[in-house]
Amino acid sequence: MKHLFFYLSELKKILKGRNVSLFVDYDGTLTPIVKTPDKAVIPQKTRAVLRDLSKNRHCRVAVISGRALKDIKKKIGLEDIVYAGNHGLEIEGPGIRFKVPVSLRYKAALKRIKDILRKRLSKIKGIIVEDKGLTLSVHYRLADKKDERLLKAIFREALGYYIAGNKIKIRPGKKVLEIRPPLEWNKGKIVLWLLARRRHLPGGKNNAPVYIGDDVTDEDAFIALKDIGLTVFVGDPGKTGAKYYLRNTREVTRFLEQILKIKTDEEICQN
Ligand SMILES: [Mg+2]
Repeated sequence: MKHLFFYLSELKKILKGRNVSLFVDYDGTLTPIVKTPDKAVIPQKTRAVLRDLSKNRHCRVAVISGRALKDIKKKIGLEDIVYAGNHGLEIEGPGIRFKVPVSLRYKAALKRIKDILRKRLSKIKGIIVEDKGLTLSVHYRLADKKDERLLKAIFREALGYYIAGNKIKIRPGKKVLEIRPPLEWNKGKIVLWLLARRRHLPGGKNNAPVYIGDDVTDEDAFIALKDIGLTVFVGDPGKTGAKYYLRNTREVTRFLEQILKIKTDEEICQN
């Protein structure tokens, strides 16, 4: 697999003279993974470069996260960018407002599941059951490694009925299990959906989509952009559909600075 910084000249060629539609994940991509989700704060430097990118007329920025929309908006706090929360079940940005419709039956099931899980998982230390409105997340980063099997057993037993009846879907991530509506709606579909909207396409066809992410849920986006975009995995390169990788969130910030530099230099040349 290719480390992105060894291919900077290739990168410049791809991005030069084209408009950039930048898609970034949050946890593990813009901020290092931390013990509890509320402690993940975006570094000043990263936030500043995202802001400058969003203000550049050749760039569009979208943050796509598993967090609830309200949460991710607050964490970043920038205007003029698109926020996709709950892995795209709710999207908001300049000229965009979208929320996937879910049935009352699903909402009722989710509430029941939350009650069941909070009760049954209370015997395991370090589990957080987070209510994200349209979804639930069970975080187990703080739990003892030896309790993970018990957690998964309780989880399967409590949710078997709902999974078998296709009433919910489970999506695993890094030390988290997410319960979501039974829809085929993933980060790949969201990226293509946003690209199909003119507002996220500053320059029609002359557009370079860039996607950066670190988790299994980002793989759908890597596949969706395989032939049309620049895809970047964050972490130790292993099995991923992305073309390039960066080692950590610091390198992601440096890469964002590179994109900004390429685009700012172009603007100076044009003026
Ligand atoms: Mg992530």
